[in-house]
Amino acid sequence: MKYNPSTGIFIGLGANLGNPVQQLTDALASIASHAEIKLLERSHFYSSAPMGPKDQPDYVNAVCKVSTNLQPLALLHELQAIEQQHGRVRKAERWGARTLDLDLLLYGDAYIKTDELTVPHYGIKGREFVLVPLFEIQPDLIMPDNQSIAHWVRECDLTSLTRLMN
Ligand code: ATP
Ligand code: MG
Ligand code: MG
Repeated sequence: MKYNPSTGIFIGLGANLGNPVQQLTDALASIASHAEIKLLERSHFYSSAPMGPKDQPDYVNAVCKVSTNLQPLALLHELQAIEQQHGRVRKAERWGARTLDLDLLLYGDAYIKTDELTVPHYGIKGREFVLVPLFEIQPDLIMPDNQSIAHWVRECDLTSLTRLMN
């Protein structure tokens, strides 16, 4: 099955080890220079308190919009390769500290649920560090379930989120 990406392909970026701002800057450069991915938009960077274990540094997050002819799973694999290039070591602990996390948030209006890939990413609606940067670059976005991004931004708790200058 081929998916139609016409309403936009969005990637969530996060890091909280090393120099997170630099990690995200470098990751965006890797995405922009990838032969099969075109970087269309990027949000500001936002800092947020960690989910899960609290004994780890704050996160820096951003969202970017891309275009690509890669199908969703192939795109995920390219994102994972970029994570590896940026020194990510996968650990058993969920939501533990990491140098770089690249999640495929939306691929047009595709719904995908396999062992390896869930699209839309299941965490979008509950995560202010995803919703706010997504709203920043695509305020008129309608999610595949026909709900507006604006609705979910209004619902979310913004107290731990700070927009950085980057
Ligand atoms: P979370 O998914 O809650 O944000 P995480 O990003 O820390 O947590 P990872 O360790 O990066 O989780 O990924 C765990 C697995 O999630 C990956 O092996 C990947 O196959 C799977 N996965 C499923 N859907 C997606 C998606 N939309 N984007 C990225 N990874 C996904
Ligand atoms: Mg993630
Ligand atoms: Mg991930």
